[in-house]
Amino acid sequence: MLKPLSNRRWFWIALLIALAAALAFYGSTFATRAYLDQAATRGKTTLRLAVAALQGQLNRFEPLPSLIADNDDIKELLAAPNDPGLRDRGNAYLRQINTLLQSSDIYVIAPDGETIIASNFDRPVSFVGENFSYRPYFQDAIKGKRGRFFALGTTSLKRGYYFSAPVHVGGAIRGVVVFKVEVDAIEASWLGGDDEIIVTDPEGIIFMAERPEWLYASLLPLTPERRARTAASRRYANATLRELPVARGNFENRLSLMTVNFERQSSEYLVLSEVMPDAGWTINVLLDTRSARTQALTTVAAALLTLGLAALGGFVLLQRRARLAERMEMQRFAREELERRVEERTHDLALVNTRLETEVAERRTTERQLRQTQADLIQAGKLAALGQMSAALSHEFNQPLAAVKTYADNAAVLIERDRAAEARDNVVRISSLADRMASISRHLRNFARKPNEKLGAVDLAEVVRDTQEIVAWRLKAANATLLVDLGRTPLAVKAGSVRLQQVLVNIITNAADAVEGLPDRRIELQARRRAGKVLITVRDHGSGVADAIAERIFDPFFSTKGVGKGLGLGLSISYNIIKDFGGSLGVLNHPEGGALFTIELEAMRNTVREAAE
Ligand code: ADP
Repeated sequence: MLKPLSNRRWFWIALLIALAAALAFYGSTFATRAYLDQAATRGKTTLRLAVAALQGQLNRFEPLPSLIADNDDIKELLAAPNDPGLRDRGNAYLRQINTLLQSSDIYVIAPDGETIIASNFDRPVSFVGENFSYRPYFQDAIKGKRGRFFALGTTSLKRGYYFSAPVHVGGAIRGVVVFKVEVDAIEASWLGGDDEIIVTDPEGIIFMAERPEWLYASLLPLTPERRARTAASRRYANATLRELPVARGNFENRLSLMTVNFERQSSEYLVLSEVMPDAGWTINVLLDTRSARTQALTTVAAALLTLGLAALGGFVLLQRRARLAERMEMQRFAREELERRVEERTHDLALVNTRLETEVAERRTTERQLRQTQADLIQAGKLAALGQMSAALSHEFNQPLAAVKTYADNAAVLIERDRAAEARDNVVRISSLADRMASISRHLRNFARKPNEKLGAVDLAEVVRDTQEIVAWRLKAANATLLVDLGRTPLAVKAGSVRLQQVLVNIITNAADAVEGLPDRRIELQARRRAGKVLITVRDHGSGVADAIAERIFDPFFSTKGVGKGLGLGLSISYNIIKDFGGSLGVLNHPEGGALFTIELEAMRNTVREAAE
């Protein structure tokens, strides 16, 4: 992601640019100075060597003219200049020592300026007969001084350095000996050097140069005076003089610079000069500044490059550090965010936990209350049941007991009156009432007793037959009809025969109660086998079981028949008996009216008669 540069960055960039500019400016000046100074040092050495070499050359030849002037033959000749014999001898002598000294020319001039003898007398270009009275070296020597002059030979057209000395004969100056040394050899020795060496005369005209094209060119403006002075000594014979287009300058007022515009080429030189007053010339060493300036530029460029690289490196480093800091910041942020979320979640969890704990506590309290209520209800139910039972039992027992007492009292009275037959009748009644109470008691015992009868296959047809016998009197009393349908195949069920019979008696008796006094007094008993079970149904045509009490008719002591008529134990006991058989007992109202009791028992294959309980 690109970010806008901060103010600090801009400051650094501006500083860097300023630094680069300063480096470019001061660096180039500094480097140029250093390299020019270096070149100047080198140039000074070159100059010193050149000066020494030239000086050495000149010093070597300087005394020679005087030596020759002392020669007797020369003196003799100048005493008699027209003597051909002396001239010949003189010529031969000069040629000999010229060869010996390896100089250019040696010649002797008469006081009128005419050359009498010369080492090149026998050459095509001979100085003999030539008049050199215009040459300063002649003019100096004829005045008795040693002469020195450099010039382009008017006859030989060769540049040379001339040394001259007067010839004294008998105290008078009779002639001049001239010794010429060519400068070509010296000049040639400069060739190949790195630096340009030029020698200029006092008029600024180049006399010696590595480049021949620069010869006789003037570094100073060729004023008429200069031209006239040069023409008088005929220093440059007939050579054409011209100005070399130069512009002088300097570097820091210390080093002199010169720009030469020659042949459409402009070259700048560092100029180091030394005047040789004895020789009358100035030696200049020209050092091309191009290499120094190029070196300076290269150095500055290298420095700038280094600076740039350093800045780049710094920038990369800073960038990396910034990125690292950014990453760390992001990590810190992410960590904080995570911690915050964890804290939030922990807080939420703590809240939920607290809520749960509260709820659990509430639920525990509710549960405790519920259990308490249940226990209270059970207790109340038990008490209610006990009360109900007590009422029923006391009623059931009190009535016969009251009757028994009455019959017993009557019997006692009848016995007192000797009415034995009637008394017996009362006793029989008492006995019958006792039987009834025993029956109630048996019922109750049945309720409490755990059956120890073994269950087995019971022939249903047999049980139904026995039941019919038992209920016959009740059916008759109610004027009801029992219709039995057990199907074609004999059925056997898993039960105890007496208890099953008890159940059937109870249900059929209830049905008889239900239909008593109604127009349709049919009771239908049916048994069918279905899916490993045997279903026994007893249906009457009575009013059926009201929905409100349907769930309660199997409860002990529930009865709608009023005190004295029903104990409310029949269905309760029957229910438990069928449950003991592993079956079930239920009631429905038949859609066409009347109650429909269903007993479901496990079907058995073998019909083995069950032993009596
Ligand atoms: P009891 O016969 O002594 O009342 P039960 O336990 O045998 O006791 O019956 C409980 C009650 O079930 C009866 O009081 C009666 O209201 C109801 N009941 C039983 N059988 C029938 C039936 N066939 N038709 C209508 N109601 C019945």
